[in-house]
Amino acid sequence: MDAQVTIVGAGVVGLAIAERVSADFRDIFLIEKHLVFGQETSSRNSEVIHAGIYYPKGSLKSQLCVEGKRLLYDYCKGNDIPFKNCGKLIVATSEDEIPIIEGIQKTAFNNGVDDLEIIEKDRIAELEPSVFAMKAIFSPSTGIVDSHSLMKRYETGMINNGGQIVYGSEVTGIRRIEDGYEITLLDSDKNIYNFTSQVVINSAGLTSDKVSELAGLTDEKLKIIFCKGEYFRLNPPKNRLINRLIYPVPVHNLEGIGIHVTVEMGGGVKLGPDVTYLHSNIYDYQVSPSKQEAFFKSVRKFLPFLEYDDLSPDMAGIRPKIQKPGDPVMDFYIKEESERGCPGFINLIGIESPGLTSSLSIANYVRNLIKI
Ligand SMILES: Cc1cc2nc3c(=O)[nH]c(=O)nc-3n(C[C@H](O)[C@H](O)[C@H](O)COP(=O)(O)OP(=O)(O)OC[C@H]3O[C@@H](n4cnc5c(N)ncnc54)[C@H](O)[C@@H]3O)c2cc1C
Repeated sequence: MDAQVTIVGAGVVGLAIAERVSADFRDIFLIEKHLVFGQETSSRNSEVIHAGIYYPKGSLKSQLCVEGKRLLYDYCKGNDIPFKNCGKLIVATSEDEIPIIEGIQKTAFNNGVDDLEIIEKDRIAELEPSVFAMKAIFSPSTGIVDSHSLMKRYETGMINNGGQIVYGSEVTGIRRIEDGYEITLLDSDKNIYNFTSQVVINSAGLTSDKVSELAGLTDEKLKIIFCKGEYFRLNPPKNRLINRLIYPVPVHNLEGIGIHVTVEMGGGVKLGPDVTYLHSNIYDYQVSPSKQEAFFKSVRKFLPFLEYDDLSPDMAGIRPKIQKPGDPVMDFYIKEESERGCPGFINLIGIESPGLTSSLSIANYVRNLIKI
């Protein structure tokens, strides 16, 4: 075999896996179709280190988020990666939202997030004098991270461990052979290469369902639907009125967690993302200026200082959803596929939020699925 382990996709998750796996195995290849890492979902998100508040008890999302958050803070401290443990408020802006935030606190407690505090108006005013809320949850362990520096560090770690990254090469074929897989690559000059690998890890984000199909693993339930999230920017100087993340109460099935306010490492403030399922899986990263009114209205409830012209279109990202519109919350799909006739093939599908927060715990989880 040319490789012991091959990872498809150099987003934040594939890179974290590559660093972790290259510490224990030799001949590791990480294959990425773009010329640099993190060109898709991993560079188009809120960069929030989530506390693990919302996810159903016992789900991978809940487990890996809570564990991943701790690992990520430690990793950032140990590797000089910029991060800020700024905390977050989930705000109730009407009487009927108060029982909802109390319910959120209970769910979070069951998930091992035991540091949430329900705070009243005077404490809210101390923390965020410009925000309106009748009551709020304060989550002290939520934070933000510079995801580019994080990915760079994972990449360096992998290279230092002796792993190899192949950029500008798309995996176009995966064929089962004795004791492994033959992988076909198409490079940017349209050259085709083949090599063999004992283990294949599919961390291909938005096209992870397609990569799974290359190995013959087709499943309607695991078809990815692109779900776009757009952001607007809060123009200076009003960005200085916000110190931490501010979230409304979430919608019932967590298709998204509501248009929220995210602070950035450099002091900027973004609103979003919203939730729009796309009709076809196209890479549509346009931000519609016509949405400004809807963003303004939904956030003004808790940012009373906001005026319409304080916002400007910013950027968009795409979630790799396996949860169809209106469906209950779907968990991450992370599985070694022996049961479906593909031993040594590990699928990661539907790695939407909190994938960035969970990157290190996902990497450990995947490492433990490798049996060679
Ligand atoms: C709007 C939005 C906001 C979010 N906010 C947060 C947040 O605040 N906190 C959080 O924890 N998470 C957040 N997330 C989720 C997080 O961004 C993702 O879970 C994470 O980036 C997924 O990383 P990945 O490596 O799995 O996928 P990706 O970043 O999509 O990487 C997959 C890589 O695979 C490559 N690839 C695909 N097919 C092939 C092929 N055939 N051959 C070679 N390479 C291939 C792609 O080019 C890509 O680089 C958010 C997501 C979105 C969309």
